[in-house]
Parts: sequence; C-alpha cells; structure tokens
Amino acid sequence: MKTIRSVAEMQAHSRAARAQGRRIGLVPTMGAFHDGHESLMRAARAGSDEMVVSLFVNPAQFNDPRDLEAYPRDEQADAAIAERLGTDVLFAPPPEAVYPPGFATTVSVPGLSDGLEGAHRGPGHFAGVCTVVAKLFNMVAPDVAYFGQKDAQQVAVIRRMARDLDFPVRIEVLPTIREPDGLAMSSRNVRLSPEERLRATGLSAALQAAAEAVDDDPLAAGYAVLAEHGITPEYLAMVDPETFQEPGPLIVVAACVGDTRLIDNVLIKRAATPDRRGADPKGVVRVLPTP
Ligand code: AMP
Repeated sequence: MKTIRSVAEMQAHSRAARAQGRRIGLVPTMGAFHDGHESLMRAARAGSDEMVVSLFVNPAQFNDPRDLEAYPRDEQADAAIAERLGTDVLFAPPPEAVYPPGFATTVSVPGLSDGLEGAHRGPGHFAGVCTVVAKLFNMVAPDVAYFGQKDAQQVAVIRRMARDLDFPVRIEVLPTIREPDGLAMSSRNVRLSPEERLRATGLSAALQAAAEAVDDDPLAAGYAVLAEHGITPEYLAMVDPETFQEPGPLIVVAACVGDTRLIDNVLIKRAATPDRRGADPKGVVRVLPTP
C-alpha cells in the first residue's frame, strides 16, 4: 500500500491507473476505522481495480471546534487496517494541502442540506462535506465512491451534488454495520462511558420500536423507547430518503448521549397494500439483529 499526501501526486497516480484501464474505487473517511469502514473497503476491493481510501478529518464540516479537537485520530492503526483490506493507496493529505491559503470556494446543496443534520450541526456542515467530497472526486477521479447508509442525509446530499455537477462517478451505498446490541458503529462510540454506552442502545432500539409500530404511531413508539433510555433526541422524524422531507419511510434519529452526538436511521418498507393497517408486519425492515 502506498501512502500519498500531495494532491498533485494523487492526481498523477489516478491518471496513470486510468491510462492502464484500471477502475478506481474511492472510500472517503475521517479515520478511526471500525467495521463500518471495513465493509466499505471490502466493497471497494471487490468492485474496483485501484482502491483508494482517503483519510482526512475535514475541519470544514465541524461546527464545534471542541468536537474537531476531540475527534479520534490514529493514522498508524488505520493504515494497518486499510492495508489488510487490500487498499492500493491511502490518501492522507494534510489540511493545508486541501485548504491552501486563499481557499474560498464552497459547494453546497441548499434545501436538502437545511433540515435535520443541517439544522442541528449548523448550515456549514453539509457545505463542508460537499466541498471536501467534490475536491476528493477531483483529486482521486474515482469511477465508484462508497458511502455508508448510517449517514443517510449525507448520502442524499452527495448523490444530489454528484448529479447536479455531472461528476462521472457512481455512488454506492452500503448498509449500516452495528454492534451485536444494535448500536450503529461510529468513530465517536469510543468516547462513550460504560454507562453511556449502555444508554446509547436506545437509538437503535427506538428505531426498531418505531419500525414495528409502522401501522400505529411509529414516532410515539420511538420517543417512548428513547425516554426509557434517558435520551432526549435532537430529532426523531420520518422522511423521504431522497428529499429528506416529511413524511417518508426513512426513520432518522439524532441524540447526544453525554457529550457524544450519535445518529442512526432505518428504512421501513410497508407491504404493497393500499390498506396500511392490513400490512404484513414482515414487511418491516428490522434494525436488529446485526447483518
Ligand atoms: P466517517 O469516517 O465517519 O466520515 O465515515 C466514513 C464513511 O463510513 C461514511 O460514508 C460513513 O457513512 C461510513 N460509515 C460510518 N459508520 C458506518 C457504519 N456503522 N456502517 C456503515 N458505514 C458507516
């Protein structure tokens, strides 16, 4: 595995790979790898010839400087994982290579970025995500880029951006990987105390309760389970997975457990019947067990 830190070198590497007819797969990450990242890397390994994992903790998408400061970083451990999974290039540019002095351009997707995560993390969050992902697409020139369903609104925003700006890249979305007790894996989970770690299962349990109450009152069922875990959510909503407007079949939740902000979501599928009350409960996608 080769580690590249300069943008010019990354672009030259991708040009050469492309000239040899190699299909480039990109897994954009902020590091602190867990099984969720590994699942994206496995998909990228299987689906491309030249596999690039980018590792960049993007300051532009953090609204809270303390959150940026506290974000877990361990490049050595991450590099070992990336190498084990067959990565060809670990692209780990320093912040000044991504945002040189005088950097001024922003890519944003208004509307789609405004609600839920956008509203709670601040208007700059998705603009920061879009700008860095657009830059990564120009630096790495991937044929396919791999993202996790765990960040469902991010997926919607990036798909829209790639379509609107004609990036010649296919966006692949992989299912959320969970701990055995249902908690969605996240680099932030290491910051939970043992007591918080237990309470954090309330997010996935609430989504599951909501999904099971699909023909009744899903949000009330979800709120009840969150309350049982002592969690007051920032939001719990049912939205369309593409527009992120209510109502829709994607149940999304965000909550702070202690100082750690967690998000999760589940897509419910109703049986194809006009009478929802008669829907087959097996039509509900379950949050548990871990796939
Ligand atoms: P991050 O390093 O947190 O920015 O995440 C990098 C990529 O991994 C993003 O596309 C995330 O959606 C994805 N990801 C994070 N957690 C999970 C998870 N538990 N399951 C699947 N994908 C994930």
